[in-house]
Amino acid sequence: MKSKAALLVDYNAPLVIDEVDVQGPKEGEVLVRIKAAGVCHSDLHAINGQYTHNLPLVLGHEGAGIVEDVGQGVTNVRPGDHVVLSWLPSCGKCRPCLRGRPANCEDASWPSAGTLRDGTSRFGKNGKTVFHYGATSTFSELTVVPSQSAVPVARDAPLTALSLIGCAVSTGVGAALNTAKLSPQDRVAVVGCGGVGLNIVQGARIAGAQTIVAVDRSSENLELARRLGATHLVNSEEGDVIANVQAITDGGVDFAFEAVGRRVTIALAMALLARGGRLVLVGMASREEVLGLDVLDTVVREVGVVGCWYGSCDPQRDFPRLVDFYKSGSLKLDEMIEVRPLEDINLAFSNLAKSTGGRTVIAF
Ligand SMILES: [Zn+2]
Ligand SMILES: [Zn+2]
Repeated sequence: MKSKAALLVDYNAPLVIDEVDVQGPKEGEVLVRIKAAGVCHSDLHAINGQYTHNLPLVLGHEGAGIVEDVGQGVTNVRPGDHVVLSWLPSCGKCRPCLRGRPANCEDASWPSAGTLRDGTSRFGKNGKTVFHYGATSTFSELTVVPSQSAVPVARDAPLTALSLIGCAVSTGVGAALNTAKLSPQDRVAVVGCGGVGLNIVQGARIAGAQTIVAVDRSSENLELARRLGATHLVNSEEGDVIANVQAITDGGVDFAFEAVGRRVTIALAMALLARGGRLVLVGMASREEVLGLDVLDTVVREVGVVGCWYGSCDPQRDFPRLVDFYKSGSLKLDEMIEVRPLEDINLAFSNLAKSTGGRTVIAF
């Protein structure tokens, strides 16, 4: 089969839109016709070479589509099913999986090789291998994914909106509901209100958190945060951020979420904590970001730091639940989406690098 796709051919270069060959699904795999794919910061990190991969590859790891065909042994989906793709095909057998924590699966690193589980690729061009990205490769009309990555969802919701559920939404909302397990008494700050941060804001609203302070340097992002549930906005370019947040929250927050992945914003988020508070690290950092820990302050004030990977989510449980939230109106997705064709993919990435708020969704 032929499929139009956006390929990462070289680092720090525009993606190339080209036709690739796609093989049918093998055992345990699913062929999906992608209808919509979100443009995420992790794709940008791949383009920048921050994390290296086998090239060329079909980029994109956030998407939704319709099952076209299934390989031998696939029982969770059938042709015609609407699916949201997960970039973390957990094994279901290791200790974390068996304890209901598939985001911590011990056998989930194989997609980083750019292949499917058997070590081969279903993409090619002129007889040469084209690699997968995150076991999803959503910037392609057709893609082949492991069955664990194809999560069936309700058919009566638009796939354009649902495409975000596979990464930014499950990460952000999951950080609030699963990692932090926020309750209505909690005072919350979200540092960095891009695609993930905005979804942390809505997760905090869904949890009923009484005070939700959005911190960002872009007034556009902050306005979007207000529409998604932030009760207070703090522009980090104006005045003393720590003093402003302390004034709003009467001494600090119970949970500070960091969604940028940089030392300076992590230190800021840490400084916003009240006694007994928790810092939740959600932003993807480069390997160079190493932080010192003020041990005495940590002990005396009983503050804690916890990482959050994929919103501590269980895709099979959480994706359908997030679709329900969307259908009931509590999860707002259309508000943050700008739809563009695949041809605009490089423009979408330059907008993302400028952090102009919201999310571009590529519609096929
Ligand atoms: Zn992502
Ligand atoms: Zn596992």
